[in-house]
Amino acid sequence: MRIETDLKLGFKDVMIRPKRSTLKSRSQVSLEREFKFLHSPLHWKGVPVMAANMDTVGTFEMALALGKKKLFTAIHKHYTVKEWSEFSKGITTELFNYIAVSTGISKQDADKLSDIMTAVPQINFICLDVANGYSEHFVAFVKQTRKRYPEKVIIAGNVVTGEMVEELLLSGADLVKVGIGPGSVCTTRVKTGVGYPQLSAIIECADAAHGIGGQIICDGGCTTPGDIAKAFGAGADFVMLGGMFSGHTESGGELIERNGEKFKLFYGMSSQTAMKKHSGGVAEYRASEGKTVEVAYKGDVDETIQDILGGVRSACTYVGASKLKELTKRTTFIRVTEQENRVYS
Ligand code: 5GP
Repeated sequence: MRIETDLKLGFKDVMIRPKRSTLKSRSQVSLEREFKFLHSPLHWKGVPVMAANMDTVGTFEMALALGKKKLFTAIHKHYTVKEWSEFSKGITTELFNYIAVSTGISKQDADKLSDIMTAVPQINFICLDVANGYSEHFVAFVKQTRKRYPEKVIIAGNVVTGEMVEELLLSGADLVKVGIGPGSVCTTRVKTGVGYPQLSAIIECADAAHGIGGQIICDGGCTTPGDIAKAFGAGADFVMLGGMFSGHTESGGELIERNGEKFKLFYGMSSQTAMKKHSGGVAEYRASEGKTVEVAYKGDVDETIQDILGGVRSACTYVGASKLKELTKRTTFIRVTEQENRVYS
């Protein structure tokens, strides 16, 4: 046994220090980024905020709403080949820059991915998603997928340490998804004791990825636009959101009405609810159970997008970053023991 005594930090442990700036208004801030990838020859331009590949969040409806604003959606893996085929007929070529197909790594998953890619060859992004990205089997799957789809952008995760980010990138991933345990409906830390505070994971993994020309996605743990700004400040190239995009008109699941109030169901992809719904299909998707919660209905996602982008733009203004790309360079985190004043919450 060994103990590492370096303190690891989460979003709640820091704030971004304001800096003198020449920016007059947040309207001067551009949140669009352009990326070239480590393996895929594709170029990407857009706002690097993503909806998570959960069946309550990463829906076709969400993709249409987010794609219009150049935000990205990792479509969940439970749509059938036929549903993909029908969806693809009604959308523009442009939208294919803002969606990924997701898959697990079982034989069944790989076969389904292959069928979807044959039916909808315009798909540019493939998200290989497992709870524990540390297995040899996963690395082999990434290699195999790269070989099979040399032109596509491959997202692989999840991991939380630099050496594994490097291994996945060198095995064929373009983007590595970072986060074990920070998710809003995740119980990994409770069930297994395993995890890594997300801010430190982002700082360390971004450094590893950028060193070899790859990118990372901060996946999980953002509960406010301020957390998203901190994730970008820490070096995340993309930020993926589950909970913050749940509960909208475009989110999956029924609208529940009780005593005049509206809710939507939101659950982890390895929760009882998800297992039951996909009957065994997700048993190996996540190592641990997830929670099932009812979130207050939030209306159309457009307003949430505006709230998020407004917050991140404002963060950029506070540190004098005229482009999102400059935010990391201009970020100094201060360690804190307080966050917002909660007297009225
Ligand atoms: P959030 O933005 O809600 O904090 O986090 C979303 C992320 O939580 C997802 O993208 C995924 O990585 C993770 N997640 C989703 N469902 C589960 C689950 O059932 N168990 C665990 N451990 N993580 C989950």
